[in-house]
Amino acid sequence: MPSYAYFHNQIVPLEEANLNVMTNFMHYGTGVFEGIRGNWNGDRKQIYLFRLKEHYQRMLNGCHLLNMELPHTLDDLYRITVEVVAKCGYEEDVYVRPLAYKSSESMGVRLHNLESGFLLFAFPWGPYLDTDRARCCVSSWRFPNEVPRAKIAGLYVSSALAKTEAVERGFDEAIMLTPDDYVAQGTGENVFIITNGKLITPPSIDGLIVGITRDAVMTLAREELGIETVESHIDRVELYTADECFLTGTAAHITPVAEIDHRKIANGEIGKVTSKLQKLYHDVILNNNRKYSDWCTPVYNK
Ligand code: PMP
Repeated sequence: MPSYAYFHNQIVPLEEANLNVMTNFMHYGTGVFEGIRGNWNGDRKQIYLFRLKEHYQRMLNGCHLLNMELPHTLDDLYRITVEVVAKCGYEEDVYVRPLAYKSSESMGVRLHNLESGFLLFAFPWGPYLDTDRARCCVSSWRFPNEVPRAKIAGLYVSSALAKTEAVERGFDEAIMLTPDDYVAQGTGENVFIITNGKLITPPSIDGLIVGITRDAVMTLAREELGIETVESHIDRVELYTADECFLTGTAAHITPVAEIDHRKIANGEIGKVTSKLQKLYHDVILNNNRKYSDWCTPVYNK
């Protein structure tokens, strides 16, 4: 099935969307991207894009940080996204990657005096962690707390180091600490624990990426299970001794953590609250729960 991209202000076959080797972004990571899921609802033969508005708001905040002005409004970005995914015509779960980047073919580390570009492409992508119970390690690499918040491309090198270290050591995913030794997050996910009935996640002030799935989980826990999330520091020992632990992310959805550094979380099975949240979240992203319909944007015009 051919894929398409939005590139240089038009929709083109994916293989024609190529950057020049001198593009500033390629050398210094001067770009901000997003990862958006399109979830395939087979009963309705529809793809629902999850929380477009929040993804683009986060991307535009990142653009602001990187001194980038895009020639597109939020409405343009929604329209372009729907058009590209619809043109691809997939009938399965997809992942959409928008990228705003310093497009000038110009060397030199800086943010000023550089043009900005915007591109986007979509491709089929099933489960990210490829396991329903992740085995994690605490990484020797720290999560940089220098104002990420948005998905700034250059900052991902720390996550890449941590992920490969984890996989080489036989784990599925790494949990990274902040420079002052608190739990920050996974390499592409936020972390939650449940201890004594409390749902706890690290505070955004720790410089982590404030996930849209994290927000969805906090909303569902509050609205549907009556559980408020506490945003507070978590240390390594609290992680090992939690009753439940799970990771959240657009790609990873809600992935239970079975063990960390070879220590089982409780009995290593999926926890009760985690399992309830997974079911709720699954219904919501497929637009099977009307209360959250405005989080879902249909792609195909029926
Ligand atoms: N942290 C990082 C480093 C990520 O790449 C992601 C995935 N976008 C997340 C957290 C989770 O964010 P979200 O739930 O918005 O996908």
